[in-house]
Amino acid sequence: KFRGALSKTRQALNTDIRDLFKAEGRLVDDEFLTDLFERLIRTDMGVGPAEEIRDRIGKDYRARVVHLEEILDTITSQTTAMLEQKSTELTRAASGPTVILVVGVNGSGKTTSIGKLAYYLHHAGNKVVLGAGDTFRAAAVEQLTVWAGRIGCDIVTGKHEADPASVAFQTVDRAVEMGADIAIIDTAGRLQTQSNLMQQLDKIRRVISKKIEDAPHEVLLVLDATAGQNAISQARGFSETAGCSGIVLAKLDGSAKGGVILPIQDQFQLPVKFVGLGEGIEDIAKFDPQSFAKALFQ
Ligand code: GDP
Repeated sequence: KFRGALSKTRQALNTDIRDLFKAEGRLVDDEFLTDLFERLIRTDMGVGPAEEIRDRIGKDYRARVVHLEEILDTITSQTTAMLEQKSTELTRAASGPTVILVVGVNGSGKTTSIGKLAYYLHHAGNKVVLGAGDTFRAAAVEQLTVWAGRIGCDIVTGKHEADPASVAFQTVDRAVEMGADIAIIDTAGRLQTQSNLMQQLDKIRRVISKKIEDAPHEVLLVLDATAGQNAISQARGFSETAGCSGIVLAKLDGSAKGGVILPIQDQFQLPVKFVGLGEGIEDIAKFDPQSFAKALFQ
């Protein structure tokens, strides 16, 4: 799945890096390391990770003649190691339903990601309930209801502009009542101020922990992989306010800069747990550092 979504990045990068080599290989010297660094930067992986890879290659191969494959192997294993620093597993409740709150700026792909995540978890044998907590956006509630219908899972909705915390509470209540494995709760994607957002999320946390003490078990931040630095900073506000535990990186298929996952993990200090690979119901994948790094570079 990653391979298809990352084909744009891989093609660009491969030609770019391949260019550095001749059939007989290439001597690893300062010039080579600088060239390689520049090409790594073009994947949007960020300066820190690119430096780390360059230095590793300098250490392992300096003054030797190397071939493309060796360099790609090293880049892949270094990238895997960087991505494996945090667990990409979904945290599950010790008992009872696992409660997942989903936050993110409007347009990031939040609603679609919830639908796909619900399908993914349902398909894996979990009983899933959705909570349409973005009550200020009628379209989001409608969209989520359509997803629930397609999946055949339960959904809790409130009236337009109902208190999101009450929808969250009812969702958890329903999940407990029906013995569900997972409740996924949408939250507002647009609030006037950060303090508004904080209040709302605090309230949601408070009411659901009345029902399940250690809930929410995950707070997933949805980010748009195709968004520029501006959108990323905006999302930073969200993540700081929401106390997130992981990232869903949506629209990875639309990006020719798949390397962006590295600075995202770095900036947010959060692991990417799922990636969005298209608009269809099956277009989501659990993030796996090694397959991802391979798909990116090989
Ligand atoms: P929200 O406003 O954050 O809830 O965003 P939506 O879920 O409505 O998504 C915004 C647009 O992005 C829609 O057209 C989605 O179909 C599209 N979208 C969401 N996730 C993905 C993805 O992983 N890949 C692609 N190609 N499009 C996506």
